[in-house]
Amino acid sequence: MPRTLITGGAGFLGSHLCERFLAEGHEVICMDNLLTGRIENIDHIRSDKFRFIKQDVTEYLYIDGPLDYVLHFASPASPIDYLEMPIQTLKVGALGTHKTLGLARAKKATYLLASTSEIYGDPLVHPQPESYWGNVNPIGPRGVYDEAKRFGEAMVMAYHRFHGLNTRIVRIFNTFGPRMRQDGRVVPAFIDQALTGRPLTIFGDGGQTRSFCYVDNTVEGIWRLLMSDEADPVNIGATAEMTIRQFAEKILEMLGSKSEITFLDLPVDDPKTRCPDLSKAKRILGWEPEVPLEEGLRRTIEFFKQQLKIK
Ligand code: UDP
Repeated sequence: MPRTLITGGAGFLGSHLCERFLAEGHEVICMDNLLTGRIENIDHIRSDKFRFIKQDVTEYLYIDGPLDYVLHFASPASPIDYLEMPIQTLKVGALGTHKTLGLARAKKATYLLASTSEIYGDPLVHPQPESYWGNVNPIGPRGVYDEAKRFGEAMVMAYHRFHGLNTRIVRIFNTFGPRMRQDGRVVPAFIDQALTGRPLTIFGDGGQTRSFCYVDNTVEGIWRLLMSDEADPVNIGATAEMTIRQFAEKILEMLGSKSEITFLDLPVDDPKTRCPDLSKAKRILGWEPEVPLEEGLRRTIEFFKQQLKIK
């Protein structure tokens, strides 16, 4: 039975990964300091093959016994989190990547880094292929996340080239689904606002674009990448690009909500466009998103209704 460590395993993406790896027959060790992760996300996982360790991954890591895979998913993940936890965000992306790489090397495990579309910054190439180097402001409010992830990618490639470690880098684009926190990101924010009759808060004029990938699709892409032998980064995300204004209208329509729309200031360095070039994921992994946006949104809306105890 393979043994897998998932850092950030009590977070949104991490908890879905824990479920998937258990379903694939892995023994899963979930490590999280619960800074933005939540114990409720893994409470329902009942298995003698699952262990939770509360720990900050920027400290020295000790795991008893063998490990076959190390997946580093611990990190604050929303622009509001970066403002509130800038040092922790830098540390977990940089020092946490170093510590988890060291652990993977000691255990001769295969390593996967959760990287991000943010490494492309406010992109000048559209859609973004993996060959694009990005347009990142190192000293802006998002710099703490973007630069830590860029450092993390460099560190992974150094371990791969210098130590011969078996490594993967997934560049995850906007992903949504059940168990997201209300952390200011657009999907939970708009659904919550529409469900409770408050105005939808569009930042800027809402002309900026994103594409939203349902979590099950993202998890499938990550699984396939881990099982491949591709050491260079691979984009995983959705390509149904839309403006944030269109997205607000979609949420209002799906919920039949009468919420108004209000326009607030655009955060500093908010990317104007973002959409993955998925050619490489299709070619190498035979992967593209299966669950369509609307179906994913329906499942996510159900989750938030349960949270709000709305029938
Ligand atoms: N956004 C918005 N209203 C909100 C939250 C976010 O208009 O209440 C916008 C935000 O400015 C960005 C997009 O939605 O252009 C996606 O934001 P999110 O924080 O979800 O992720 P990002 O793609 O910026 O990392």
